[in-house]
Amino acid sequence: MDKLTKTFSAPQAPREFGFWLDGAWEGGRDLFERASPGHGVPVTRTPRCTTSDLNAAVAAARRAFEDRGWAGLSGADRAGVLLRTAEILRRRRDEIAFWEVLENGKPIAQARGEIDHCIACFEVGAGAARLLHGDSFNSLGDGLFGMVLREPVGVVGLITPWNFPFLILCERVPFILASGCTMVVKPSEVTSATTLMLGEVLAEAGLPRGVYNVVTGSGRTIGQALTEHPDVDMLSFTGSTAVGRSVVHAAADSNFKKLGLELGGKNPIIVFADADLEDAADGAAFGISFNTGQCCVSSSRLIVDHRVAAEFEAILVQKMKKIVVGDPLDEATQVGAITTDAQNQTILSYIDKGKAEGARVLTGGAALDLGRGSYIAPTLFSGVTRGMSIARDEIFGPVLSSFTFETTAEAIGLANDTVYGLAASVWTKNIDTALTVSRRVRAGRFWVNCIMAGGPEMPLGGFKQSGWGREAGVYGVEEYTQVKSVHVEFGKRNHWIP
Ligand code: NAP
Repeated sequence: MDKLTKTFSAPQAPREFGFWLDGAWEGGRDLFERASPGHGVPVTRTPRCTTSDLNAAVAAARRAFEDRGWAGLSGADRAGVLLRTAEILRRRRDEIAFWEVLENGKPIAQARGEIDHCIACFEVGAGAARLLHGDSFNSLGDGLFGMVLREPVGVVGLITPWNFPFLILCERVPFILASGCTMVVKPSEVTSATTLMLGEVLAEAGLPRGVYNVVTGSGRTIGQALTEHPDVDMLSFTGSTAVGRSVVHAAADSNFKKLGLELGGKNPIIVFADADLEDAADGAAFGISFNTGQCCVSSSRLIVDHRVAAEFEAILVQKMKKIVVGDPLDEATQVGAITTDAQNQTILSYIDKGKAEGARVLTGGAALDLGRGSYIAPTLFSGVTRGMSIARDEIFGPVLSSFTFETTAEAIGLANDTVYGLAASVWTKNIDTALTVSRRVRAGRFWVNCIMAGGPEMPLGGFKQSGWGREAGVYGVEEYTQVKSVHVEFGKRNHWIP
């Protein structure tokens, strides 16, 4: 029986989009058709932009930057546009969430929550626009005064992935705008709709034309061309570490554009024997299953005190079995569909590898047949050892690998035994343990007795091969600026030539 028909109400025909160029829709291109991963029916068609489309978008962003119509506004005026954007997003929240679900496969209730977070990003961006400032040096002697100015970097290229198409976009766009930069965005080809819709929202909010442009198409073609473009001053890339590496090469081989990189993770969740095990198990189940584990900060390595490991795993299994996996458009769904066929195959192949390498499946470990779409049961592997591929590789799916430890030093060693350094969490009631572990684990985001908590005030970014730079909050705005030292001499010059 088709278990999905009851709640699904897809558009009658796929919605067709143009791309967003210089403040208006531009159509008439070859189209890419996207099928909903939860239901397998076509939902959107988006343009396969060409290199000349990209050149036109970069030229529009360049004009908009150089004419000072955005960079030359006061912080208060830029903040006004960002606050109006937040208001329009509030009005269009359900509609944007709907298109996000259709293209991505995430649950509708989660998608609405993500749009709320995006609204907050614009509000925080507005505050940051008003507070952005430089520095001064009154210590250079009586005849010299030093000012440090923050100036926008210029034209920013922004490349985003398919796992949180709108949320990751909105964790960057308000802060890029707050800095005074202009931009060209390249979303993932499979989830472009909401990035395009933001163009319309920003125009209604009063953003001058050319400040926000979107080109659509595949990463290999249009994404690569954006990374190589000689007239892009900075590139913010969010995606895999492998493509991040190619972005670094492209920047070096073109114009040494400044880079911001937000890459992969293999994030530890450390549970000590004195933790509230029910709370920690709930956090672990959420941390690996949220967004079907297709989350850069998913807690995918459970590192649990050997004294409570069996008890903890038993509680966790009971919780993971209760997670509601199903139709993304059903309000009760907690975990939706896997976003792409390729990702579905990757996750299933890692589950096979984990079994073959000798780890034990405690729950899940298989695809779920819901009639249509791609679904995988939240999976817990026990008895994982450091050398196994499920211990080392970012799977990007609902697959949790469990290890045990005997000492705090061993737990920290296990947590740091990865090329990544994106996020980590610790669960304990002992303040000494919590602070020691939070200082010693090398990760850009750290949670104590919580997971994936936070707000757009806090900086996002990774250590080690998880990336360079920080997004969001005041840190995020500063990332899109460069500092200039201005020296002002006053009084009579002390002559070099007597
Ligand atoms: P991906 O394959 O690296 O793709 C990311 C983006 O890059 C997409 O827009 C993609 O376009 C584009 N792209 C692909 N090849 C490119 C190239 N040669 N040059 C320029 N752009 C290119 O990553 P993904 O599979 O979409 O996303 C999953 C990865 O992103 C995971 O590793 C995850 O950890 C990471 N991620 C990190 C964060 C963070 O904040 N650290 C957040 C979310 C995700 P197409 O999709 O159209 O090909």
